[in-house]
Amino acid sequence: MVRFSFLSDKVMIKKSHLHRKGIFAKKKIKKGEVIAVWGGYVITHKEFKRLSRYKFKNIVHYATKIADGFYIISSKNGRLEDDDFFNHSCSPNTGIKGQVMMVAMRNINAGEEITYDYAMTDAGFPYSFECKCGSPECRGRVTSDDWKDRRLQKKYKGYFSWYIQEKIDAIQKFK
Ligand SMILES: [Zn+2]
Repeated sequence: MVRFSFLSDKVMIKKSHLHRKGIFAKKKIKKGEVIAVWGGYVITHKEFKRLSRYKFKNIVHYATKIADGFYIISSKNGRLEDDDFFNHSCSPNTGIKGQVMMVAMRNINAGEEITYDYAMTDAGFPYSFECKCGSPECRGRVTSDDWKDRRLQKKYKGYFSWYIQEKIDAIQKFK
């Protein structure tokens, strides 16, 4: 169920080998099509820290950073919405437009899992995990500093969240 977000009717939730559950294409999706628009509560970094301490320990896995100091989450008590189940892949088929819109980066076939790369949305959001996405491009460890990788900056040009693209542009201006 989605309460705050938009989720394309061409996708569904299923068991995933990547991480328990994932979101999969039911039908063909064309490059550029909108797959999801994330909605929810906008919270500050202070509230993010407070929730992770008291009420919502997993918040780091489900909050999406939308700007320095701000995150969007589906609930403040850990209840998840369907759009919380998009998994990370190092060879993703979707990217981000703006800060909350997921679009297909290429044509996607029915049955494929819909994935994005957390490097597109997460910067300065302290975490890292061992990636088992199984793609030949897998970088092994995913961290919130991955957006600094020049190869990824090229690979995902036009698909980074707005606030990360600003950081990339600021670095490149001085090179
Ligand atoms: Zn990987």
